[in-house]
Amino acid sequence: MQASVLVLNANFEPLNICNTRRAIGMILAGKATMILNGRGEIRSISRSFPRPSIIRLERMIKRPRPRVKLTKREILRRDNYTCQYCGRHTPYLTVDHVFPRRLGGQHTWDNLVAACSSCNHHKGGRTIEQAHMHLLHWPSEPPSSANYIFARHLPDNSDWVPFITGW
Ligand SMILES: [Zn+2]
Repeated sequence: MQASVLVLNANFEPLNICNTRRAIGMILAGKATMILNGRGEIRSISRSFPRPSIIRLERMIKRPRPRVKLTKREILRRDNYTCQYCGRHTPYLTVDHVFPRRLGGQHTWDNLVAACSSCNHHKGGRTIEQAHMHLLHWPSEPPSSANYIFARHLPDNSDWVPFITGW
């Protein structure tokens, strides 16, 4: 009942992800319809119920264009788990403020990069110029496409791809 279910808006725009229990609850309440089954059935004593993979809301929800949340996990993913100073590819990365916080550097997409602990330690509280270091790429906010936002779910849910692509 904890499997991920993709929730589409009434216009088929991918909205978010919920679990099977919530998806079935929304279908039974008439708030959503099943778009794709693909996961067999859930059986109870009296009836069986198709297990949804994708549902679609009956009524359109208005919301602003989604943006990728600014978290350590998303910064590392944007930077492809690569230290932006030395290019080391490792799961053990920290997040560095390119322009140091103590000098007024902001906690924003364009001032945060993945850094290995030795580069982060070497740079310390200095600017890249002061530390004689350079960046592989200048950081920026990642794209807010559905493909980018839902990317980590796609290897386990390839049946979602046609519904995600293009949004
Ligand atoms: Zn490094």
